[in-house]
Amino acid sequence: MFTIRDELRTVLRDVAPERPIETPQSTRISVAGHELLNFCANDYLGLANHPRVLAAAKSALDTHGFDMASVRFVCGTQPLHIELERAISGLLRTEAALLQGSCFDANGGIFQALLDNRDAVISDALNHASIIDGIRLCQAARFRYRTRDIDDLEAQLRQAAGYRRRLVVTDGVFSMDGSRAPLAAICDLAERHDAMVMVDDSHGVGVLGVTGAGTAEAAGVQDRVDIVTGTLGKALGGASGGFVAGRSEIVELLRRHSRPYVFSNAVPPVVAAGSLAAIELVKTGAADRHRLRENTESFRRSMIEAGFELLPGDHPIVPVMFGDSALADRMSAALSAHGVHAVAFAHPVVARGAARIRVQLSAAHTDAEIAYCVDAFVRARNDVAAGGNA
Ligand SMILES: *Cc1c(COP(=O)(O)O)cnc(C)c1O
Repeated sequence: MFTIRDELRTVLRDVAPERPIETPQSTRISVAGHELLNFCANDYLGLANHPRVLAAAKSALDTHGFDMASVRFVCGTQPLHIELERAISGLLRTEAALLQGSCFDANGGIFQALLDNRDAVISDALNHASIIDGIRLCQAARFRYRTRDIDDLEAQLRQAAGYRRRLVVTDGVFSMDGSRAPLAAICDLAERHDAMVMVDDSHGVGVLGVTGAGTAEAAGVQDRVDIVTGTLGKALGGASGGFVAGRSEIVELLRRHSRPYVFSNAVPPVVAAGSLAAIELVKTGAADRHRLRENTESFRRSMIEAGFELLPGDHPIVPVMFGDSALADRMSAALSAHGVHAVAFAHPVVARGAARIRVQLSAAHTDAEIAYCVDAFVRARNDVAAGGNA
């Protein structure tokens, strides 16, 4: 007898259902038959369905097949996988890179492979769930510092002084705020305390830095970061896949000891080929980071002029703050009624009282679409103030 059914139903009562998208991922999507402008995908560079990405993926289906039916080290590695790993380390200018099923897997496998009970990990309090879970899987002593707080990081590093290895880990860009880790100061401190630095740059790679190498490049500390993890699922085409890049000895250790790498199937060739094409577009400058920056600036400017409260920053993640979670939900529903898809986030994903709609810009948004979105925010605010849901 499934006796916990009622209990689970109570837990599930407030969970909003997923809203299936009936079109390919794009700035214009269809949900339940309604066309919506999409302002919450991670497709920062508009590469998710770029013609070159599609062509590469289609052709790989014919030349390399649908899947590998194997983990990498048994019989799941094609030259394509190695080429993609080279392209990733080329983009990030690291010694080596290892492809993983996702960035969640990359973070899930790294700590237990590298650290044991003689070691310490010092982690930003706002780090991504996959880092938190990855740390839970290892035996290292855990230290947590207040988000982006260099003084607290130093205090934690002092406490961790007696351990064999010390690893400082931070998101490059924090996904709910769009804020960046102070990587230059973190690298300075880590050097002084003989600690390694790991950056999960899922929201930074392809977006930040002169060549798109990410947050470390933008901070001028690329050669001082020991490990970068990241995803293929955001700026780099949006597919399912992730990676670890960095010092070659660490990468090769993970090739043997990262459990999600060793015990889970290879990334399908179609995904590898499409992601490779997306990375080429980033490398050659064909993916328009300049346009993404302009779109972000113009959206931020217009929203501030319209009187909305934004968290400051320059990342295409733009949090529009409402505080109260019911208000943020009503705004999101009203936006939807006005043709804009943008999702509200509340506790426990963000702090209590800091509910927000997280808007994400893409290089693929047109000026008209951005203007429409700002206008929809204004109309939604009027509707909500008038007491309706539009
Ligand atoms: C999106 C994200 C991930 C997860 O990436 P997947 O490849 O989808 O598993 C991990 N870390 C951070 C910081 C992210 O933003």
